[in-house]
Amino acid sequence: MIRLSGITPSGHVHIGNHLGAIRRWADEGGPDDLYFVSDLHAMTNSHNPAKLRSMASEQLAVLIAAGIEPDRVFVQSDIARELGALNWVLECTCNYGEAARMIQFKEKSKGRAGVRLSLLTYPVLMAADILLQGADEVPVGEDQRQHVELARTLAKRFNSTYGDVFTMPKAVLPPAGARVMDLAEPTRKMSKSTREEAGVVFVLDEADQVRRKVKRAKTDGGSKPAYAPEARPGMANLLDILSACTKEKPEVLADRFDSYGQVKEAVAEALIEELRPVRERALALLADPGELERVRKAGAVRAAERGDHRLQSALRLIGAG
Ligand code: ATP
Ligand code: MG
Repeated sequence: MIRLSGITPSGHVHIGNHLGAIRRWADEGGPDDLYFVSDLHAMTNSHNPAKLRSMASEQLAVLIAAGIEPDRVFVQSDIARELGALNWVLECTCNYGEAARMIQFKEKSKGRAGVRLSLLTYPVLMAADILLQGADEVPVGEDQRQHVELARTLAKRFNSTYGDVFTMPKAVLPPAGARVMDLAEPTRKMSKSTREEAGVVFVLDEADQVRRKVKRAKTDGGSKPAYAPEARPGMANLLDILSACTKEKPEVLADRFDSYGQVKEAVAEALIEELRPVRERALALLADPGELERVRKAGAVRAAERGDHRLQSALRLIGAG
């Protein structure tokens, strides 16, 4: 059973990505699960090529540093030729209306000038990501469900029109994990693409940066720490982060502190400890480009090999070559 998950290098990896996804992938992932850095998906809006390249390396390094087996990880653009070929096959299997009705496209293109064609077509590339690897399950949030449904529709249509090639993928809900909110704006999810970095703790932040950001975290009125997500989202977020690090219940943790300052201190130190091994290994990898390149190449070769028979069959069946 192959489960496929991606992470888009739209910015630095943050503690939300780590606590909510990457750590779980490393600890609980099945032996056949696959993880990829979806750098091609980060080009559907205006982007900076040099920054994208460096973010992709950083994410690959963090995934491996977090303990995911290197041969389960690859960078999407390293198999761009295979994906590009399958993408074309799938574009020729997809109706224009099916792409145009994607809610994400409607939302992200509304009222904007210079919308890239790739913003419309990237769900088809996403279908190629999924179908090339033969993924059975794709854990996604609500916003990506429709895209996985499209991959399913295209697989079914191709299989029944030209011949049975693709595994039918299924969108599954990711296991409920920590949902980390922005420290400066605790009603908003912590995100890579947030411009204001004050409320976002990055996995590669130095210890002092972590302390500074946590110290400045927005907390709500109230005299003593208490866990009340609705009424006091800032404090609840800090307690949730601490809970994700220590594996104790946030309500129990709240009772242990007399002041907000104490909570922040505990959160900062727990985070620094949680991130330390990942940060150290990731920085070591990034400082050794030869090693990172070797790992990256091996992942790419495996990813290409894994999908080769499906790509060749699909091309042959659709009448190419
Ligand atoms: P972007 O702003 O570009 O969407 P992101 O920070 O939301 O970036 P994604 O690449 O969309 O990151 O998601 C990668 C993984 O991290 C997904 O599994 C997603 O559920 C998880 N994730 C992202 N943000 C958080 C968060 N704040 N808390 C917990 N998990 C998160
Ligand atoms: Mg996101």
